[in-house]
Amino acid sequence: MDNSGPLQLIRIESDHTFKFQKSTISKVLLQNDIKDRNIVAISVAGAFRKGKSFLLGFLLRYLRKTYQHRQVNVSEDWLGDFNEPLKGFVWKGGSKRETTGINMWSEVFLYDKGSEKIAIILLDTQGVFDNQTTVKENVGIFSLSTLLSSVQIYNIMHQIQEDDLQNLHLFTQYGRLASSEGEVSPLQDLVFLIRDWRFPYEYDFGFYGGDSFLKSCLEVRKEQASELQDIRKELSTCFDGMKCFLMANPGEKVSSDKHFDGRLNDIAPAFVDNLKDLVPKLLAPENLVVKRIGGTTITAAEFLTYLENYVTTFNK
Ligand code: GDP
Repeated sequence: MDNSGPLQLIRIESDHTFKFQKSTISKVLLQNDIKDRNIVAISVAGAFRKGKSFLLGFLLRYLRKTYQHRQVNVSEDWLGDFNEPLKGFVWKGGSKRETTGINMWSEVFLYDKGSEKIAIILLDTQGVFDNQTTVKENVGIFSLSTLLSSVQIYNIMHQIQEDDLQNLHLFTQYGRLASSEGEVSPLQDLVFLIRDWRFPYEYDFGFYGGDSFLKSCLEVRKEQASELQDIRKELSTCFDGMKCFLMANPGEKVSSDKHFDGRLNDIAPAFVDNLKDLVPKLLAPENLVVKRIGGTTITAAEFLTYLENYVTTFNK
């Protein structure tokens, strides 16, 4: 039986502090065969109801097919049977409104890359940017997941809005507070993932169009207000790398049919093509990005220590 599921890594208490669920996560990351492995932490962050869980389901599908028993089995048809429902990847229960927080998927994928031993984890970072009282909490949660991940996927609908850049800028400011003085920025790769991209004739789907689109969004122009110029200049220096992937609309069945069960036959072919392109670029053995802090790789056990320290700092 499949017992895997989301584990709450950090949640927000009623007094607005962050609570690190240490014992739950320690049980996973401090296992003998995991604790000394270098961590690859892939996080998908964004507001609710923007298709994050749907994407995470496909990331898991790829990881399960590719990394089995510490061996790698790269297969072109990792997507599997087109008539099979996308099951077993329920990131949340029911339709009740979710709370802001970070979840980690309970399965850890192990890979022995020669002498380097790697543990891959998936993080789901959820927030709502619709209520003034939650702004601080949202910023904290998003900053924490950006600090902790080796690749942060910032999931956005339709467009990169000025708000998205402002939020991201806030996350990175918080992140700087948490990292010790003089430390090399711990922020690694950021991928803007734009869902339901509507202008492929201007910028094509995928990283190719995405990267030129991102370049145009981050361009500093004289006519911009100075605040907008500053945000752009700073963002460009915060991350080791910034990329953008433009994704097609998955079609009516995915977006509005309540009986849709995830089968690929019901998903628009352009979206399936995007998945085939995007997922291996994030998760194939040769593309894995190991988490580094201050330029040094960190193990699963050290990851827990950093997490605890960051939460303490953010709660001050
Ligand atoms: P989450 O709250 O961000 O995790 O969102 P979900 O993955 O639960 O998706 C919310 C709804 O949007 C579901 O009905 C999905 O079938 C649908 N959905 C998933 N991906 C996309 C997408 O790329 N575009 C659109 N328009 N809908 C999507």
